[in-house]
Amino acid sequence: MTASPWYGDGLRFGCTRCGRCCTIPGYVWVDDEEIARLADRLGLAPDDFGHRYLRRVGSRFSLVEKNRHQCVFWSPEDGCAVYQDRPRQCRTFPFWPENVETPDDWQAVVEDCPGAGRGRLYGHEEIVALGKGSGATSV
Ligand code: SF4
Repeated sequence: MTASPWYGDGLRFGCTRCGRCCTIPGYVWVDDEEIARLADRLGLAPDDFGHRYLRRVGSRFSLVEKNRHQCVFWSPEDGCAVYQDRPRQCRTFPFWPENVETPDDWQAVVEDCPGAGRGRLYGHEEIVALGKGSGATSV
């Protein structure tokens, strides 16, 4: 039997759409499937989408940033322009493994993200599943 993690009673989260996590330096990784979905949403061929919206980082691709590290798809007026098709990394935030490894890691998220620590209660199995699906191994 596997021991429960420290967040065995679950953690709360409810995104306020403040945009803070969309406007900080970092990478938003996308794989081929996500690129195809985003390109399709915008009516672009994947190559054209890549020229406009992607940067290569090593062997991977990340969305480009606008001024002041804003995600290319985020604006103060409208928030995320591709919200329904946003990458896995965005869908699974803040439950990335590195954010829930210890109570201190989670506390750091709570201090940065106004939606963390309040809102819906996510059970620990759901959190583990989100973490496994995040693809956010180094952001
Ligand atoms: S920082 Fe938190 S509350 Fe703000 S948009 Fe990101 S996930 Fe939502």
